[in-house]
Amino acid sequence: MSPETQTELQLEVERRRNFAIISHPDAGKTTLTEKLLLYGGAIHEAGAVKVRKSQRHATSDWMAMEQQRGISITSTVLQFEYSDYQINLLDTPGHQDFSEDTYRTLAAADNAVMLEDAAKGLEPQTRKLFEVCKMRSLPIFTFINKMDRPGRHPLELLDEIEQELGLKPYAVNWPIGMGDTFKGVFDRRTQQIYLFQRSHHGSREATETIISLGDPRIEDLLDQDLYYQLKEDLELLEEVGSDLDLEQVHQGKMTPVFFGSAMTNFGVKLFLEAFLEYGLKPGIHRSTQGEIPPEYPEFTGFVFKLQANMDPKHRDRVAFVRVCTGRFEKDMTVNHARTGKTVRLSRPQKLFAQDRESIADAYPGDVIGLNNPGVFAIGDTIYNGQKLEYEGIPCFSPELFAYLRNPNPSKFKQFRKGVSELREEGAIQIMYSVDDAKRDPILAAVGQLQFEVVQFRLQQEYGVETLLDVLPYSLARWVHGGWEALEKVGRLFNTVTVKDSWGRPVLLFKNEWNYQQVQGDHPELQLNSVAPVVS
Ligand code: GDP
Repeated sequence: MSPETQTELQLEVERRRNFAIISHPDAGKTTLTEKLLLYGGAIHEAGAVKVRKSQRHATSDWMAMEQQRGISITSTVLQFEYSDYQINLLDTPGHQDFSEDTYRTLAAADNAVMLEDAAKGLEPQTRKLFEVCKMRSLPIFTFINKMDRPGRHPLELLDEIEQELGLKPYAVNWPIGMGDTFKGVFDRRTQQIYLFQRSHHGSREATETIISLGDPRIEDLLDQDLYYQLKEDLELLEEVGSDLDLEQVHQGKMTPVFFGSAMTNFGVKLFLEAFLEYGLKPGIHRSTQGEIPPEYPEFTGFVFKLQANMDPKHRDRVAFVRVCTGRFEKDMTVNHARTGKTVRLSRPQKLFAQDRESIADAYPGDVIGLNNPGVFAIGDTIYNGQKLEYEGIPCFSPELFAYLRNPNPSKFKQFRKGVSELREEGAIQIMYSVDDAKRDPILAAVGQLQFEVVQFRLQQEYGVETLLDVLPYSLARWVHGGWEALEKVGRLFNTVTVKDSWGRPVLLFKNEWNYQQVQGDHPELQLNSVAPVVS
């Protein structure tokens, strides 16, 4: 790589910020995404993303299913610019029936934005996604939304984050009022008060008045009660709070917290600007060749998600690749680490919501969609230069289990092929009973929807009608040390042992209580909620 290209690569890395939003349905993820795009100039009037959400055209069978259910199964990547930054928002499906894709998307993210509803605080899906962020030590930025509605006390919300997630909160801005009296925020970075005016449903950028705390005009602009309350709150914050420590933020130990209202645009721009300043740029990735920095001159990346049938005319599959190092160019030929083959990447696509757009090049932190004629699997590394393989993507703990039955013996081959391909694609995890008489595969999912997708696709793509026999388990744990370790402990009660697709033992439990019981009886047994990575 020439010195000029190397400098260009460095500049592109410096200006990139990539993140995923973790939240519970209805916290306002779609609304916030839309507002970020509005500020980024990627859309001109808010409402565009919403329209997409509700009036999506059926572009495939799969999409037809999404539309029937009125939910979003697919995740997309939104790329936009703001000042000199190039921002990649890795969108995750928002519905409660989320799947492993939601988790895997976090494997491609450098930062996470935790979005909370001010009236609800932490909710179940947010907690689950937080656990995955914690596993990866991702920096987490918290946006507390819907401040224009009556909510819980800001201090109580901060306390909940600290007590329940073990994450030190640092309020970067502080709300002035709440609900009907929500007037704006105090920005502790600049020590300025930002007062907003509501625009028509927040469809344009909010008009703001910026004023310092000591400015005499404050008395005309702000109700006296609110002003004194703010001063009191700020004093309290200074007393109890620690300083913002970016190192801790980057290690995922401290979270900068922002208050606002995505719907009315209050606080969104301040949040975006602070995030761009404090967020991590694309970083190193661990590989078989050690830690690889993004400035490494050769192009490398890994597949974190596969998506089938986005276009029914082509019956194609798209492999989403997180670019880790170097510069990606259209028509590039790369090596595929798992198979040892070379692949020409002829039709790379960058995804902007549902509209695919072809791209010419991409840099670390970007996501590209590649046409995948059955070549790629989740976790695959593609590289140029010296051979390397990135750490794979782990299997996450499924919570729903069911035998999948094929009632029609003449369809046995298609059934087996379909199950195996959908597993490879990462649509679902497959486990088997250790009792050889029971050959039916066990589907193991993170969300109910995965069952439906598998059954739907087996029927549509492989012509096999299937039956589900739901199993009464809700927790899976992989056994550290495999069969050998398991044999040592002897007979176990209140659990059943199955094997995963790699033949490794997995214990299934009906509930947390049974799991705790087994763990209590056999403290020597090391059980993991995430499967060891297979490379
Ligand atoms: P998602 O499911 O997380 O994508 O949530 P949406 O963005 O679809 O928002 C869920 C609901 O909350 C919608 O009715 C939004 O209009 C509403 N909403 C989102 N942000 C705000 C906000 O800041 N204030 C208020 N009052 N409502 C909001």
